[in-house]
Amino acid sequence: MKTPARAILIFIIIFLCCPFCVTPSEIANNAVMRVSITDDVDSVYLALKGRYKIYAAGSENTVKEGPFFSGTVSATRDGLRIGKEDIRVNAVRVRVARDSNIYLNNRRFRGDIDIFRKDNGRLMIINYIGLDKYLYGVLYHEVSHRWPMEVLKAQAIAARTFALYQARQNALKAYDLRSDIYSQVYGGRTSEKWSTTKAVNLTKGKVLSYKGDIFPAYYHATCAGYTEDAFNLWKIDIEPLKGVPCDFCKLSPHYRWMKEIPLSRIEDRLMSAGYKIRGISSFSVLSKNRSGRAERLDINAGNGTSAVLTGKDFRQIIGPNEIRSAKFTVLAVSNKLCLEGLGWGHGVGMCQWGAYGMARKGKKAEEILKYYYPGAEITTIDKVRL
Ligand SMILES: [Zn+2]
Repeated sequence: MKTPARAILIFIIIFLCCPFCVTPSEIANNAVMRVSITDDVDSVYLALKGRYKIYAAGSENTVKEGPFFSGTVSATRDGLRIGKEDIRVNAVRVRVARDSNIYLNNRRFRGDIDIFRKDNGRLMIINYIGLDKYLYGVLYHEVSHRWPMEVLKAQAIAARTFALYQARQNALKAYDLRSDIYSQVYGGRTSEKWSTTKAVNLTKGKVLSYKGDIFPAYYHATCAGYTEDAFNLWKIDIEPLKGVPCDFCKLSPHYRWMKEIPLSRIEDRLMSAGYKIRGISSFSVLSKNRSGRAERLDINAGNGTSAVLTGKDFRQIIGPNEIRSAKFTVLAVSNKLCLEGLGWGHGVGMCQWGAYGMARKGKKAEEILKYYYPGAEITTIDKVRL
């Protein structure tokens, strides 16, 4: 291959691969998280308040720069439209000067932002941000910033461990974490509060480990009596995630819930998930596990069709915020399903309202974490495999 052609090929490979490739060692050295801010959207509103540069992603080629920008970014047939300008590249990196700010859809973000035009002509936005700055934007969404500092510190250590574990698992994927309830809710700089930032700083570098390795340090809002064994949900079989009794979350506003859902909506959701059932006549919990969560559900229809599914799948299909937990009993089935339930969340790992209850009793962050993740140690990032 002649040199110019080879150079072009290398450039194309670097251009295509670089934005997606962060090796585990790079994560260890720089601890940069790749957080998906939004995905599969037609456009985003971008405001750059201060000096900025926009590069073709994976290169140092500046495609746009200036003292200030605000406008819409959308995909074109062969690139991106940034404001009124068409740029013939499929991905750009947005970087602002140290004292400037990036706003995306009116939320303020630290770090760099990459905007990708996907093959389907829609946009994916990824925020590249240092681990602790990422945690600044997570904690506010996970716990009340008015809670005692020991809970905030416990939450910071759990969230840091979870983030690093996800980064390791997703090293070859386009991003490490999503900014919604499926990872950890992340709101960018807009979500930062003094106390939650302090908790991240006070626990700098601290992570949970089990037998010398980090693990997915799941957590949830309220367990209502007993945390869940991660094996029941995701076949993760390690001591820190086997479940413990919790008597500390009784103050939680999510301790008890009632829900009525029209059967027609349940049928629609089940149908779209592949369960062919119409005219539901009965709904029962066949078995519960040690933590009291529904293991198997039996749903019958008058026409003889039926479905048996796990509590986890049912919750996922109907919506995890509609069915707040798999710990429920059926009160009645008419044209609606009436449920009475306990707790909020999948129930695995640290119970946040329980951690709050423990802190109110004077427990320290380390005691809280060792209670909810039995067998785990608190160590520092440099001591674990990333
Ligand atoms: Zn609890």
